[in-house]
Amino acid sequence: MESFYSLQGEGVFRGTPAYFIRIAGCDVGCTWCDVKESWDAEKYNEVEVTELANKVVDSGTKIAVITGGEPLMYKLDSLTDELRNKGIDVHLETSGSYPLSGDWDWICVSPKKFKAPLPDVLSRADELKIIVVNKHDLEWGEEQARLTSLDCRFLLQPEWSKSDQVLPFMIDYVKANPQWSISLQEHKYINIP
Ligand code: SF4
Repeated sequence: MESFYSLQGEGVFRGTPAYFIRIAGCDVGCTWCDVKESWDAEKYNEVEVTELANKVVDSGTKIAVITGGEPLMYKLDSLTDELRNKGIDVHLETSGSYPLSGDWDWICVSPKKFKAPLPDVLSRADELKIIVVNKHDLEWGEEQARLTSLDCRFLLQPEWSKSDQVLPFMIDYVKANPQWSISLQEHKYINIP
């Protein structure tokens, strides 16, 4: 759908320069999705993986973030191989609802109630990011956390339009359950893509 150089705005690597490759196509259907224009892959042209990898190298960053849409709808091995062969660390952002493909340096799984994550993908997560819309999402997030590995990082992130309502109980929750921390969508606060 698009590729661009920016800063990672959320999660463990927030604030870090990274080249984003947003792959079109998603059937998860989150009602609050902020990239609904990514859902229909047929609106976009195919791009050669070599062309994408060269853009990442030219940017000067050492991190490429593969996001979507839902990138795991596609076999991603050729893309991650091309990037890694050029010395780029590849990070994945996925809902975990399709089987894992590709070779990754960092996997962020942000599971969605709309389409359940696959346990195998959750078990490979380096970072679990739960989007919080209401209090039940905290309980649901704990269920997802039980399916991850021991060294996975746990993050709670307010759904942008609900931040004012949910942040007070999220802060209380994180203080009582310090294995979790809060992630904010910092790119939206500083107006970068
Ligand atoms: Fe949007 Fe991501 Fe949900 Fe797909 S998984 S609908 S791209 S928020």
